[in-house]
Amino acid sequence: MHLEEMKKEIEMLVLEKGFYNKPEDVPKKLLFAFVELGEASDAWKKGKTEEVIAEELIDVIFYVLDTSRLTCPSINMDEMFQKKLEKNKKRAYQYGEGHRSKSM
Ligand SMILES: [Mg+2]
Repeated sequence: MHLEEMKKEIEMLVLEKGFYNKPEDVPKKLLFAFVELGEASDAWKKGKTEEVIAEELIDVIFYVLDTSRLTCPSINMDEMFQKKLEKNKKRAYQYGEGHRSKSM
């Protein structure tokens, strides 16, 4: 399944379950994505199974794609993924990792 298909599936789920679905709900959806990241981190820290960790990471993807549906509906996320991947590939080795050379 590609990102655009996932986005449509998530939209159907949101509508079916009566979840937040308005532009003003975007901050809540982004907050929930962070919450799910925290759950993934906690699961990893506690030595939970890969399946449990993966499920939390999928929750993050759900919220990210759901947010994209409301914030940038004209953008094809599959195309954007490819575009951003190519952009990142062109960056220098350890781009943005300047903090590594700083002493603590
Ligand atoms: Mg979760």
